[in-house]
Amino acid sequence: MGSSEISDFEYFAPSSILEVSKLLRNLTRNANAKFLAGGMSLLPTMKVGLVSPSIMIDLNRIKELKQIVLNKTRLRIGAMTRYSEVLESKQVGKLFPEIYDCVSEIGDMQVRNRGTVGGAVAHADPSGDLSSCMVSLGAKLVVRGAKGVSKELDISKFFQGPFTTLLGPRDLLTEIRIPIDSKHMHGGAYVKLERTAGDFAIVGVAVSLWRDKKSGKIVRAGIGLTSAGDRTLKATDAEKLLTSSPLTTGLLDGVTNSIAAATDPSSDVRGDKEYKKEMFRVISERAMNLAIERAGLRVPR
Ligand SMILES: Cc1cc2nc3c(=O)[nH]c(=O)nc-3n(C[C@H](O)[C@H](O)[C@H](O)COP(=O)(O)OP(=O)(O)OC[C@H]3O[C@@H](n4cnc5c(N)ncnc54)[C@H](O)[C@@H]3O)c2cc1C
Repeated sequence: MGSSEISDFEYFAPSSILEVSKLLRNLTRNANAKFLAGGMSLLPTMKVGLVSPSIMIDLNRIKELKQIVLNKTRLRIGAMTRYSEVLESKQVGKLFPEIYDCVSEIGDMQVRNRGTVGGAVAHADPSGDLSSCMVSLGAKLVVRGAKGVSKELDISKFFQGPFTTLLGPRDLLTEIRIPIDSKHMHGGAYVKLERTAGDFAIVGVAVSLWRDKKSGKIVRAGIGLTSAGDRTLKATDAEKLLTSSPLTTGLLDGVTNSIAAATDPSSDVRGDKEYKKEMFRVISERAMNLAIERAGLRVPR
């Protein structure tokens, strides 16, 4: 076998979540199963021999995994919802502009037509854009084990390292839930610095803010960082700072410094570590200003 050949595998294309659970339960202990979503990351890694599943479970026929459902308390996005479907959803763009900013910057049209929200989060690429938005929005992940029992995981604890998450080998991510806080006014933004359109981020910053409708005080802040270290980072110190005192340029300087200090990017073809840390300062300022404006606030000069 040549190095660019994909090893043989058994292929299954179930049409329901129940069928997936049944399939998983019947696998032998040493079967190496992989879920196929958009294939945008899985297939390239198979082609270079980094992953060689013996069983491929194609999720593309499962309609239950492809829905966007909104109610008063949360937005639910099925794991097999494609990026392009997220962009087409007026509800998502209106409620959470940071998701729209982010998804519209992922890859090119082909990638957005195939790639899925579940695949992006499960793949756990520290350079993946969507995970940062989900971190800033405090998303919950619904995971169904092979026994058919579902649990909800907090995204802030989900990423364990590069391409490593709390998902077990037979856990299916079924849905992402984003809480809706209708008591407060929301504003959010995702800003990405890239070498060329469609490239992965040199740095990316997602900012989500919630403010009191009357006083304007920021009551909650979420900040997720792309390409900032060995996993998607949550800038908890900077989040706390943002809610600690009234908005001033001084406070924003403190927040951008805190964000840059929290990052540990690696030097690579996209830039060296010091350059990237500086860019986190610049890009987080842009993301914050946009989120502040979208939350209907102004920073006194
Ligand atoms: C040319 C190109 C440019 C790109 N540019 C960007 C970019 O700018 N920004 C960016 O963020 N990404 C980029 N990507 C990556 C893209 O976003 C991928 O689509 C995404 O990372 C994986 O989504 P997928 O649906 O294709 O998943 P797949 O490739 O099918 O799967 C990825 C992994 O997740 C697992 N998986 C998938 N679905 C589930 C599930 N429901 N439950 C459990 N495990 C699951 C699979 O088994 C596999 O291990 C790019 C990709 C390409 C090819």
